[in-house]
Amino acid sequence: MHSFWEDCKRELEKRIDPHNFISYIKPTSAIGIRESELTVMVPSAFFADWIEKNYMAIIREILGVKLGPDARVKFVVDAQKPKVEVRAPAPVVRHKKKTLPTQFKPQYAFESFVVGKSNEFAYASALACAKNPGSKYNPLYLYGGVGLGKTHLIQSIGRYILEQNPEARVLYISSDQWVNQLISRIQKGQMDEFRNTFRNLVVLLVDDIQFIAGKERTQEEFFHTFNELFHDGKQIVISSDQFPKDIKKLEERLKSRFASGLIADLQPADLETKIAIINQKSKMNGYVIPRDVAEFLAATIKSNIRELEGCMARVVAVASLTGRPIDLAIAKETMEGVYSDEKKHVDIPRIQKAVTEYFSLKPNDLKSKGRSRNLVVPRQLAMYLCREITDDSLPQIGKLFGGRDHSTVIHSHQKVKKDLESNTKLYKDLTAIKKMLEL
Ligand code: ADP
Ligand code: MG
Repeated sequence: MHSFWEDCKRELEKRIDPHNFISYIKPTSAIGIRESELTVMVPSAFFADWIEKNYMAIIREILGVKLGPDARVKFVVDAQKPKVEVRAPAPVVRHKKKTLPTQFKPQYAFESFVVGKSNEFAYASALACAKNPGSKYNPLYLYGGVGLGKTHLIQSIGRYILEQNPEARVLYISSDQWVNQLISRIQKGQMDEFRNTFRNLVVLLVDDIQFIAGKERTQEEFFHTFNELFHDGKQIVISSDQFPKDIKKLEERLKSRFASGLIADLQPADLETKIAIINQKSKMNGYVIPRDVAEFLAATIKSNIRELEGCMARVVAVASLTGRPIDLAIAKETMEGVYSDEKKHVDIPRIQKAVTEYFSLKPNDLKSKGRSRNLVVPRQLAMYLCREITDDSLPQIGKLFGGRDHSTVIHSHQKVKKDLESNTKLYKDLTAIKKMLEL
């Protein structure tokens, strides 16, 4: 009886907000069981209400596995205890001794990672590394766009290793933290201490490595740490938003080290995977999102899962604040303006307009025959964008650029693509124009 509830608590700890777990679930204990009804003691009536309201669905689900579909929980207030009133939002408990080091977020685990076509290779690679650190896939390099689950996966590796062996020396650090620590240690003349942090690790997890680009001393230190760990057979996992050779201002020797192991990419999730993620997150948080709402949100948010979570939370909050059910109408209202289709619709004329504005050209300059450099560069960049962003064919693009041949479009595209590798000004221009187009 005791263990049913303790098991349930352990499962809840993995699935709900950590602060809420500490505040509301942790102080409870089971005192009896009859048939499929578990009696759980709580410090006050407030706890019972709060748990009932927020987590009953998920508790039933967890207990259901062991106690059957009729599993129920009855709360009784502990009369012995002085009354403790906790009001939402839950206070942040900072001094709790946890088995999981604070660098790891409890919600980032392999179990809570939804696997689909877009990420199955990255997931499998990460899991293989966690099961067998330092053996085959070293280093493991995970890359993918914003909000696609890099941090989630890289943290899952550390967490998994720690679950197997709580004593294992595991370090998760983002590369900007690395930079900051290095600077501060240099200032204090504590380079030995800095280096010691990275000795004797079983696994080093470095998130967002792209931030060390352009920083000489950091790259130098990183290179030595990398080699030392690597030669000792220690696992190194690196994440980035780009493929190693595409990271600008990253030393060649690092690029080649990073590419020497296993490279796995995370692609934007397809619709089904996004829906599965919505279902999983809502379950974790103890609410239900109807299928049509999930479909709508999944279709509206193109790729960033963090954004998807944010929208879900917003829809749930609006529903709860207005006392309305979570339905398609409320989802559409909430998302209106934020993600209207029109805004995302980028066609050739819109690209041309943005480029023209950005370079302060005259309306017809991109279509003209002018060959001066201040026209050729924007024109090529515009064609490049049309090729990258729209589904229009090469002849169609050529036609809208003053009736140019499709081979001109191909040439422009290739030229810009190549120049972007070395020309930072061009890269900045491109980024700024994309921003104007809200891409
Ligand atoms: P990144 O580091 O690539 O920018 P994160 O790992 O921070 O992205 O992911 C953003 C959010 O999306 C996190 O809350 C994460 O849990 C969630 N997420 C991303 N991919 C998945 C997935 N496949 N299954 C479950 N949650 C996911
Ligand atoms: Mg991240």
